[in-house]
Amino acid sequence: MAGPGRRVAIFGGTFDPFHNGHLRMAVEVREGLSLSDLFLVPSARPPHKPLHPTTPAEDRLAMAAAAAAGIEGVSVLDLELRREGPSYSLLTVLEVAEANPGADLLFLIGADAFSEIATWHRYPELLAACDFLLLPRPGTPPEASFPPGIRIEMEGTGCYTLPGRSYRLPGGRRLLCPVLPALDISSRSIREKVRQGRSIRGLVPPEVERYIADHGLYRGEERG
Ligand code: ATP
Repeated sequence: MAGPGRRVAIFGGTFDPFHNGHLRMAVEVREGLSLSDLFLVPSARPPHKPLHPTTPAEDRLAMAAAAAAGIEGVSVLDLELRREGPSYSLLTVLEVAEANPGADLLFLIGADAFSEIATWHRYPELLAACDFLLLPRPGTPPEASFPPGIRIEMEGTGCYTLPGRSYRLPGGRRLLCPVLPALDISSRSIREKVRQGRSIRGLVPPEVERYIADHGLYRGEERG
């Protein structure tokens, strides 16, 4: 996997289930930034969701892998399933950096998650470990999700070849806030629909819809 000048992204999440909002973001960002690889990294034990997910990590990994199959440059990494303990993003970034020497690393983070980054494990080290790309949620400007107390300075307009704005994080790394067509889809709304016996057609890739049906996922009550 080695080689200088490669740009590689990590897209982590609970992915319970992986849906078309995630997929569209992955494809837009990979193409828009000409990334060599975009790695989907399902979180095995999300530190911020101690009760949720109840869906086994193996199922969430399988759904993400099925969705990514055949999409150029998009693949799934199981490294958080192979590690013990809480799935800290810093450890994931360090592992991916080690496996991709010389590559520029970009961490994709949802606006909702970024607003709480100061609660993350060793977050100053994480912010200094790679560049970040903020995934917009519909109706919310990126600046609205900047965490209070962290100094983030405007740097310029444009995010490589995507329209948007770029900022500097403490430690000197970049925060890219591209304009991306966010879809108003959440995993929670999909779980809810399945529980109610409603259709999820168009909200998830067909492979994920089939996996959910075949494995009887999301039929019981939700915890947390
Ligand atoms: P839940 O509804 O269970 O909270 P979610 O749909 O937000 O889940 P996650 O697995 O937590 O899904 O998402 C992983 C990352 O993708 C998060 O950083 C989240 O902000 C981002 N994300 C989720 N859905 C979308 C979407 N529709 N558009 C852009 N980003 C998204």
